[in-house]
Amino acid sequence: MIAIDGPSGTGKSSVSRKVAMELGARYIDTGATYRVATLQALRAGVDLTDPAAIDAATQVVPMTVGNDPTVPTVLLDGEDVTAEIRGDAVTQAVSAVSAVPELRVRVVELQRSLADVDGIAVVEGRDIGTAVFPQAAVKIYLTASPEARATRRHKQNLSAGMDSDYAAVLADVIRRDDLDSTRAASPLRPADDAQIVDTSDMTFEQVVADLVGRAQAAVEVTR
Ligand code: C5P
Repeated sequence: MIAIDGPSGTGKSSVSRKVAMELGARYIDTGATYRVATLQALRAGVDLTDPAAIDAATQVVPMTVGNDPTVPTVLLDGEDVTAEIRGDAVTQAVSAVSAVPELRVRVVELQRSLADVDGIAVVEGRDIGTAVFPQAAVKIYLTASPEARATRRHKQNLSAGMDSDYAAVLADVIRRDDLDSTRAASPLRPADDAQIVDTSDMTFEQVVADLVGRAQAAVEVTR
């Protein structure tokens, strides 16, 4: 089990998928599980400032989250929502939803069942090394300066043909960091035994090679 945690905008998702492909591993995107729950809450029209309403609207979330790193497919009640869960509406709302402790208990249970696979699993999130899989063989905490992360997201937006304002992107990066790291339930922080990798001045390929090397070194030790 390889846990990869860290804030948004570090390149964590694309790096984690690529590391999983190189290791011939399964890939579990735990952010997607919170995003699907958020989509369901939004569709139910709940007040996002009301944790009890969020809890009630997400008692059962019939989601399917694939674990193939080459085709990350996410379904809600059989409907393909892979693109919709990455949209602005869900991104804006997800921190409020993922902060609800009762919902986290249900979602973490699901994440544990998703990661119950033969062979290596690369599990990506915010609290994998601290709360979901504290026994993971390798724990990586990917980080980067807020400016480096905002620059990446801004470029991604532009290349996807979206309008993007750097100052607004930076403000959103800082807002989400703050919400995720100050919430009471499983805040974003590195595990005590995590290896911290700062990607601010690294290319995508360098980060992938670095993580694959760390994973292989751990496998050697346990052999
Ligand atoms: O990684 P991604 O940006 O898709 O995650 C979306 C949100 O889900 C995060 O901002 C965070 O609020 C929540 N999350 C979490 N714990 C995880 C993964 C994601 O709280 N393990």
